Amino acid sequence: TISKAADDLELDTYVIGGFVRDLLLDRGNHKDIDVVAVGSGILLAKKVSKLLLHTPKVQVFKNYGTAMLRDGDLEIEFVGARKESYSYDSRNPVVEDGTLEDDQNRRDFTINTLALSLNGKDFGNILDPFNGLKDLNSQIIRTPLDPDITYSDDPLRMLRAIRFATQLNFTIEPKSLKAITRNKDRIQIISRERITDELNKILLTEKPSVGFALLHKTGLLPLILPQLTALEGIEEVEGQRHKDNFWHTLEVVDNIAPHTDDLWLRWAALLHDIGKAPTKKFHKKIGWTFHGHEFMGAKMVYQLFKNLRLPLNEKMKYVQKLVLMSSRPIVIADEKVTDSAVRRLVFDAGDDIEDLMTLCEADITTKNPNRFKKYHNN
Ligand code: ATP
Repeated sequence: TISKAADDLELDTYVIGGFVRDLLLDRGNHKDIDVVAVGSGILLAKKVSKLLLHTPKVQVFKNYGTAMLRDGDLEIEFVGARKESYSYDSRNPVVEDGTLEDDQNRRDFTINTLALSLNGKDFGNILDPFNGLKDLNSQIIRTPLDPDITYSDDPLRMLRAIRFATQLNFTIEPKSLKAITRNKDRIQIISRERITDELNKILLTEKPSVGFALLHKTGLLPLILPQLTALEGIEEVEGQRHKDNFWHTLEVVDNIAPHTDDLWLRWAALLHDIGKAPTKKFHKKIGWTFHGHEFMGAKMVYQLFKNLRLPLNEKMKYVQKLVLMSSRPIVIADEKVTDSAVRRLVFDAGDDIEDLMTLCEADITTKNPNRFKKYHNN
């Protein structure tokens, strides 16, 4: 139908971006389809709707020059090909009409620039001016423009690069990785909501540690989740060492991934030890201790969820409970615990939660994180 509408209106029209990428990767069926027309995307959307018997509703976003057509669980976004230019203090570009190539040029990664023609004259042809197909084959995340420009223009792309590398198990081109490191401070102009969206997507992959290790390597992690970075390192006093709780945490998150797709359980795994950095002490007689880290951790979850604009409701309480149950439930009965709200949470927690945490702590490397780290240096 889109092809017919495009031909009727004599508009060069393409499917572009994630749908084409995932089609070629044979990666599930994409429910979001992005259609770009060299001309008016809104006009095309309206025509498509008219050609369909049930004339589905078209939602027009005039300010953005886009239109959305929903059909069942399919969401098709129509946009006119555009050219973008950025100013330093915003990720919202100034937009003007452009050619297909201008539109491909404005996209984040070469694998997301692939355009599949919908017009009768060359239906199914792929237009690939940036060698996206080659990068798709060699599993590389590369930017169409100079990466310093791409990331500085819209710093959200730094997180998108890391997210795609994690989801697709691709490698970020070294030049791009260096540019992310150089531009990391630009992340400050990105809203918390968008950052959290990307973190959630990383957490929901098969091996979230890939993403967190990249965030760590590029220096983005301390800007986003300093509580996690604070867990890194092993201290030694009088020959006694403790484990590296940062690398340990990443391993826990990977361990739990095959057992659950529950986002909140995965957050709990990520945060289960965050109370350890501020509670760490060395005692001459007993060595390293992290007394009360569970409670500290539960309180930190609240602050962190607030900062990241994650919901401060039942979901947060669930994560707090998991953090509280994460290590030694015995401490929970400690009489010294005075924070009654936190205490109540603990006693409300069911056995199932304890089981899950035991499960994800199982088979973890302890004092030697090198085995795990090595994997991330490849
Ligand atoms: P997924 O649906 O898995 O997130 P996607 O590639 O469809 O993947 P969207 O966020 O829906 O991701 O974006 C659709 C397309 O729009 C991308 O493939 C890319 O071409 C372009 N795009 C999205 N966000 C940006 C951005 N910040 N900078 C440049 N291009 C972008």
